[in-house]
Parts: sequence; structure tokens; C-alpha cells
Amino acid sequence: MAKDYYGILGVGRDASDDEIKRAYRKLARQYHPDVNPDPEAHEKFKDINAAYEVLSDDQKRQIVDLGGDPLAPGGGGPGAGPGGAGPFVGFQDIMDAFFGASGARGPRPRTRPGADAILRLELDLHETAFGVEAPITVDTAVLCTTCTGAGTAAGTHLATCDACGGRGEVQSVQRTFLGQVVSSRPCAVCQGHGTIVPHPCPTCAGEGRVRTRRSLTVKIPAGVEDGMRIRLAQQGEVGPGGGTAGDLYVEIHERTHDVYSRKGDDLHCRVTVPMTAAALGTRLTIKTLDSEEPVDVKPGTQPGSTLRLRARGVPHLRGTGRGDLYVHLDVRTPTRLDADQERMLREFAKTRGEEVAELSKQGGFFSRMRDAFNGHA
Ligand code: ZN
Ligand code: ZN
Repeated sequence: MAKDYYGILGVGRDASDDEIKRAYRKLARQYHPDVNPDPEAHEKFKDINAAYEVLSDDQKRQIVDLGGDPLAPGGGGPGAGPGGAGPFVGFQDIMDAFFGASGARGPRPRTRPGADAILRLELDLHETAFGVEAPITVDTAVLCTTCTGAGTAAGTHLATCDACGGRGEVQSVQRTFLGQVVSSRPCAVCQGHGTIVPHPCPTCAGEGRVRTRRSLTVKIPAGVEDGMRIRLAQQGEVGPGGGTAGDLYVEIHERTHDVYSRKGDDLHCRVTVPMTAAALGTRLTIKTLDSEEPVDVKPGTQPGSTLRLRARGVPHLRGTGRGDLYVHLDVRTPTRLDADQERMLREFAKTRGEEVAELSKQGGFFSRMRDAFNGHA
């Protein structure tokens, strides 16, 4: 019966080459006889290697997927490896499992690209809506002008590191289950650069960059929104050794407005009108972001009604046009009526056939209700 190679590595049948490799490395580290003395671990390690050998080889994997076993004696089929010869996994794969993937190294360059920087910019609604040229102050590393990024004092040069002979890495010999293994790591004396700075630039101490505060003007386009970022190319941190500067991102934070709340490019505000105006209709003057508009409130307007002023919102960032301004109407009920006003309102109610229960001077409507239930009325 064919072995369940996928099950041994604990991967699905659709696992990618990468997933198979990762699963193998993890299990190999766990079950290798040198690190796991359990006799069962030894068997398990053999299975893991066999599974990896099969599943990392497209042709063998295909045989498995067709229900065969490419490692079974004589059961290989076309393209199978030497039957019964035992699992063989590449030396590099075992090395990678234990020491990490290796690759060509060599000296690390002194000059490296700089990091991006981010800066928060608070703006009023008027500024985000119509755009603004905003002054900003940036604290970043900039190129050292004394050495123009080289890091060396005037008239001096970099020297080859004696500790690593300029290779930037040192090698050490480790005894492992595979015998002696040579591994390399970055040279501690030159931090892997292969060179040292015998006389550092006095301005930047050899860094090739210095921290400084700069003032810039950033052009904010009309229609930006809270949370948007504006990218200023190469205004971020200059890299070590004077490396290319990263980008500066200016993140927009819109202050809350007293009158308008913003939803996308639409604005919303509330306006209170007296009950009489709502009933009779009126003309209001609405202040928009940049104008004053006469607006008609129709007779019989209900509380919570909304008026829409087209294209009186925020200009669209992309394309032309603007959002709308929505005016939400609150209707104010009159309070503290004097005797005359109250009488008129009651007469008005009577003409409308709207029965209005009168509050007693003593206890009010609810106390009379209670009396009714108690049989005192
Ligand atoms: Zn310098
Ligand atoms: Zn070195």
C-alpha cells in the first residue's frame, strides 16, 4: 500500500513547493536523531525524508497523486528514482533546515536606502475642502554635507577590514551530525561591510548623514479626506552612508467642524426653525462653506426634514464637481406661552378639531387620571 506522504509532512494535497519545504524543515529539526534520541524519532525522520524526497520532485509527486509509490521496490513507474535505494534528500536541504537558507553573501554595502517618514498634519475643513499650501517642519536624517555621505574625514579613505580580509564575513567550523560544517556570519569588527572607517567624518561620526530640522511647504489638493496620505518623494530619511532618501508621507487629520459634519464629500448641518415657520413656510439664508444661499422651507415642513443643496459640499478630489450640503431641519416648539398666546393656540387647536386636554393647576393631567382610578373624580 502506498504511503501517505502528504500526511507524513502534514500538508494538504494542494500544498505548494514552498509549503512542502517549510513543513519538511520544521519536522527535520524536530526528529533528527542527533536532537531527538527517541528510537521512534529515527523511524519518523526516515519517513519525513522519504516524503520530502517524493513531494519535492514533480515527477515523483505525480506518481503519488496517481495512487502509486515511487519509492516502493519496482513500483516506481516512469521517471521514478532507483527503486529501493532508500530515500535521498539533497545535502543542501538538510543544511538549510538547520542553518537557514544559504545564499551568496559578501560584504554589505555601506550605502543603503533610507527609511520612509510619516508626519501628521492637522487641517480645518475649509483647508481640506479647498486645498492649502501648508508649512511643515520635518525632523529627518539628511546627507552630511561635510563628507557628502562618505563618512570619512577630509583627505582620508576607507580601509580594508583586517579581521575578515575585506570579505565582510567570518567563517567558523561546527561539528554536526553531518561531520564538520563550515558556516559563516557577518564580521563583527566591520559589521559585515568589509571596510572600516579609520578617521570618521567629525560632523556625522562616519554615518554619512546627520539629523536636522527642515521647513517645507506641502501643497494639499482640494478635496482630501481625513486619514489620506500625501507622498513627498525622497523627503524622508537619508540612508546610512548617504543612501537615497526614503519618502515622506504627510497624513491628513481633519479637525472637527463646529457646524458641518462630513461624510465623504457631502456635508451635513442642522438648522432649527420655529414651529410657526415650519407650518407657514419661510425663506432661510444658509451659510455654506463658501457662500450664502437662500433656501425655501415649504409650508407644513415636518421635524427631521432634510433640504439638499446640490454641489455645496466638498469638491471631489478626483474629477470635477462637488458633494452636496444636507440641511437637517429641527422644528422648535414654543415654550413659556403668555396667557394671550395660550388662548390663541387653544382656539387654533379648536378650529382644527384637535382636542387638547387641559392640565389642572393643582396636579396636572396624570394626577387627575390617578384620581379617576381611585374613584375621586
Ligand atoms: Zn560626514
Ligand atoms: Zn570585517
